[in-house]
Amino acid sequence: MYVYLNNAATTRVDGRVLYRFSKFFRNLYENPMTSVYSPGAKEVEAEMEKARKEVSDLINASRKEIYFTSGGTESDNWAIKGIALNHWEEKGEIISTPIEHSAVLSSLKTVREWGFSVKFLHVDKFGMVDPDEVRKLITNKTILISVMHANNEIGTIEPIKEIGEIAREKEIIFHTDAVQTAAHIPIDVEEMNVDLLSMSAHKFYGPKGVGALYIREGVKITPFMDGGHQERGFRAGTHNVPGIIGMGEAAKIGLSEMDKEMKEILELKNYILERFEKIEGIYVNGHPEKRLPGNINISIEGVKAETMLLYLGLNGIIVSAGSACSAKEKTPSHVLKAIEIPEDLYYNTIRISLGKFNTFEEIEYFLEVFETGIKEYRRIKP
Ligand code: PLP
Repeated sequence: MYVYLNNAATTRVDGRVLYRFSKFFRNLYENPMTSVYSPGAKEVEAEMEKARKEVSDLINASRKEIYFTSGGTESDNWAIKGIALNHWEEKGEIISTPIEHSAVLSSLKTVREWGFSVKFLHVDKFGMVDPDEVRKLITNKTILISVMHANNEIGTIEPIKEIGEIAREKEIIFHTDAVQTAAHIPIDVEEMNVDLLSMSAHKFYGPKGVGALYIREGVKITPFMDGGHQERGFRAGTHNVPGIIGMGEAAKIGLSEMDKEMKEILELKNYILERFEKIEGIYVNGHPEKRLPGNINISIEGVKAETMLLYLGLNGIIVSAGSACSAKEKTPSHVLKAIEIPEDLYYNTIRISLGKFNTFEEIEYFLEVFETGIKEYRRIKP
């Protein structure tokens, strides 16, 4: 049996997405609207705009506020560097968290080198930030607040609406990295007072290499790519037409099936957690309630994550140690450090991330293998 439990890293493309976008490789391969005389180009344009609408509906934005990018990393880079570049002369301060994805953290490092300053909020043991601290850190030099919607390692969902209210009151631009939440839990940029929001299609059963940045109308941001006039002159480069259309379909499906998907995934997750409760020395990281439906992050006493990953892998089960992007790094996860789990558990932590294609049979198989593995490993350990 092959059981993929690494859906926070990437997901399998939904068959309906594949069906809709495949014709844009072979039949409708023209660039959108390059020629007003070409029916093909017109159709591509119409389909792309339909996808833009579908993506905007997912977050309650308007079509014109969606800019397609190459994925979450680019959207995060653009949001942070684009706002910084727009304040090049006077520079300024950015408020963020220590548990952001490396796409945000590395962009912050760059703008720091450009002369901007960055202030990091504290997170509690669940990885949660305190909106009151955001209020306290704001000065008349603050140009941007960037707080992720949900953390990719431990699944904690941050109080975005409360932070958004403060940002709006103080008239500061507010960015959120919603790569882990888009099409998985409800997002409403109006209700949350978000000005910039990053998304990535491959995290919600869409294709890889395509994402979007929501930019609220009126927000001043410097274009990220120089070149042609695509995306209203804000993001140059030939459109990834099949990817964009695939993202539209994935967003449409995500929105219409969200409740059902959340319910089913939660059932699987709760089943796993109930079984974990019966095993000694397993600690669940992240917030007990305010967390992504599909995320389980655990530290296992006496069992190294690498050993567990290898053992599960040999049995056809795929989970991850920490975040997908830091899997090759040998340093402890910055998120686990920030929430101050005991140091001896840094390398004993794995992430199980469920997706809509997982079945109860798969979970049962995973649990049997996992329980046997723990017993055996603890028994033979000197
Ligand atoms: N932000 C978060 C929270 C993520 O989890 C990821 C991917 O793991 C990214 C950004 C990067 O997205 P992409 O893989 O589309 O570049």
